[in-house]
Amino acid sequence: MAQEKLVVILIGPPGAGKGTQLELLQNKLGLEVIGSGELLRERKKKKDFTGRKIGQCIDAGNRVPTPVIFKLWVDRMEKLKKLGNLKGFIIDGSPRTIFEAEMIDLSLGWYEWSNNTKVVYIKISKEESISRLTNRRICKNCGHNIPYIGNYKELTQCDKCGGELYRRPDDTKKGIRARWKWFRTDVMPALNYYRRANKLLEVNGEQSIENVSRDIFKVIKQK
Ligand SMILES: [Zn+2]
Repeated sequence: MAQEKLVVILIGPPGAGKGTQLELLQNKLGLEVIGSGELLRERKKKKDFTGRKIGQCIDAGNRVPTPVIFKLWVDRMEKLKKLGNLKGFIIDGSPRTIFEAEMIDLSLGWYEWSNNTKVVYIKISKEESISRLTNRRICKNCGHNIPYIGNYKELTQCDKCGGELYRRPDDTKKGIRARWKWFRTDVMPALNYYRRANKLLEVNGEQSIENVSRDIFKVIKQK
């Protein structure tokens, strides 16, 4: 029997450092990524009805409905299924609701990727989240996220491309509180869905990047 593909579903509240941890996991384990945000940004480049509408949705700060994103995931999964040397993949940006969690389960079942799924929840408090996000910076040029942790605090320009850094206009206390409210009402039920199934792996996100990464590898049992 072929080796089971590793599927990591990465969930965290705003400011948990998900992007940074995703990159580490991806590079160390050679995984692919199914990222809802990235898929939507790519899709909106096509200037048809849906492409334009996705653009409007993102610009207005609204969430694109599940069926539209779901189409993009499944297309991506179809492509991954054809990769001969696929080791596994990380799901990022979803599930945002219990409904999406169920849709992901069913899709993974269909593609026969259900047997090695790790749902990792990077946990941080709201206070820590507010402190990190009101201080984090973003590269104007490449969009890279500079977290307010460790050595990153000292950076004066983007560590990837040398671009200028700025703060996101909605990284205010008010904006962050709104994102948390949504996290509690929509994403938390999805977390509880995995918790009830005994599938939720919790990691303390209020540590250094290295230690969070170490703990993630520990819970997904990868050396
Ligand atoms: Zn940059």
